[in-house]
Amino acid sequence: MTASGTMTPFEMVNFQFDKAADVLGLTAHDRILLKTPFREIRVELPLVKEDGSLANYIGFRIQHDNSRGPCKGGLRYHPHVDDDEVRALASLMTWKTAVVNIPYGGAKGGINCDPRDLSLLDLEHLTRMFTQRIAKLIGPREDIPAPDVNTNPQVMAWIMDEYSKTHGYSPAVVTGKPILLEGSLGRNEATGRGAIFVLQNLLSDQGKTLPDVRVAVQGFGNVGSHAALFAHEGGAKVVAVSDIEGAIYNPAGFDLPALREHVKQTRTVVGFAGSQPLDGDALLTVDCDVLIPAALGGVLTAANAGRVQAKIVIEGANAPTTPEADEVFAAQGVTVVPDILANAGGVTCSYFEWVQNLQQFRWEEQEVNTRLKKILDQAYQDVKYLANKYNTTLRTAAFALAIGRVHETTRLREGSVETRLDVAF
Ligand code: NAD
Repeated sequence: MTASGTMTPFEMVNFQFDKAADVLGLTAHDRILLKTPFREIRVELPLVKEDGSLANYIGFRIQHDNSRGPCKGGLRYHPHVDDDEVRALASLMTWKTAVVNIPYGGAKGGINCDPRDLSLLDLEHLTRMFTQRIAKLIGPREDIPAPDVNTNPQVMAWIMDEYSKTHGYSPAVVTGKPILLEGSLGRNEATGRGAIFVLQNLLSDQGKTLPDVRVAVQGFGNVGSHAALFAHEGGAKVVAVSDIEGAIYNPAGFDLPALREHVKQTRTVVGFAGSQPLDGDALLTVDCDVLIPAALGGVLTAANAGRVQAKIVIEGANAPTTPEADEVFAAQGVTVVPDILANAGGVTCSYFEWVQNLQQFRWEEQEVNTRLKKILDQAYQDVKYLANKYNTTLRTAAFALAIGRVHETTRLREGSVETRLDVAF
């Protein structure tokens, strides 16, 4: 618990874990084994900046589980990064890779820096120092980082280069790399694309398609901008978007390619021609059918959930909905597609990148996107099946699916969990 009596991010993930564990009848013993991270790394990062000043940052890499394969998860550069947040995100990665049934465990990392205070050279030095200090504990068969908030293909290229200095040429040590450095076609777009594949599945169950819905997107970075683009390309009206600078609204729907061009020029959505400015917080409660939070965690809370007008929430971001907000949504008939399904397109495509790197072979973009759709369509059907079977939410069903899979592999490998669960997958 925090000083204000609210749950910490890791407590929130474990709250959702326990709801699913109750449905599965998991023992207290097994719950502890499955919740506890495998390894937590914390490194000091004293950086002499380009301007000559000294700044000390802390870097984390938390490896939550590796029973189904090497640990896998992104790296976040943000001032709020701390051990509890990284632990929460690492554990979400374990459940996410299991929901889409790719052969990975879960990890997450980050540095508590604000990249806006750092020059490009500072960012490179910080990234290389971090890589040196965790290099012994990551690797293509150990733990494979990827981009997350404020990290991008360039950051991945530095990590690959630094790691390769001591381990030989190792593109498979990170994913989300530039295409010229053995990145995968389609990886940059994959999380947003996947979120829209999942939305299309849900809409189809409701007898609808993308042209029937108006969409609002919080965050216009990698996930948000691509989710908005693919929603627009599918015929949806994207009526509101935001970034850290502010929010904009147009009930007639934005011209997404033109908006993306505006962001390329100005680095913000604010001021886009023909848009009305909107208060940043108002974006979440704007008049729309589908809300896609795609920025940071904990934004949908007891304080604003009751005012959300969308009937569908697609969690592009990790952990954007608190347990209290989840309850409000359930009571109001709002369908929440949980992060561990909705944004799993990113790690799924990272898996494709890793496979291509290990095979030293390249897939065409069409193949990447076709395989991505197949995996996400299947994961959606699996989660829906369990939601119906247990008469529960998509979130609890997704956790149940994931926990069942991780529990079973742990049992097979270690014999340290007590019983075999009656799960269908
Ligand atoms: P990013 O750094 O590319 O973009 C983040 C966006 O959020 C930016 O547009 C930023 O301006 C905006 N933002 C920050 N604070 C905001 C605020 N208070 N209000 C509105 N907007 C705000 O990051 P990303 O990679 O797109 O990640 C976004 C979320 O998606 C994170 O929760 C991340 O963990 C999750 N995610 C990312 C990936 C991936 O492949 N990149 C995969 C799965 C999940």
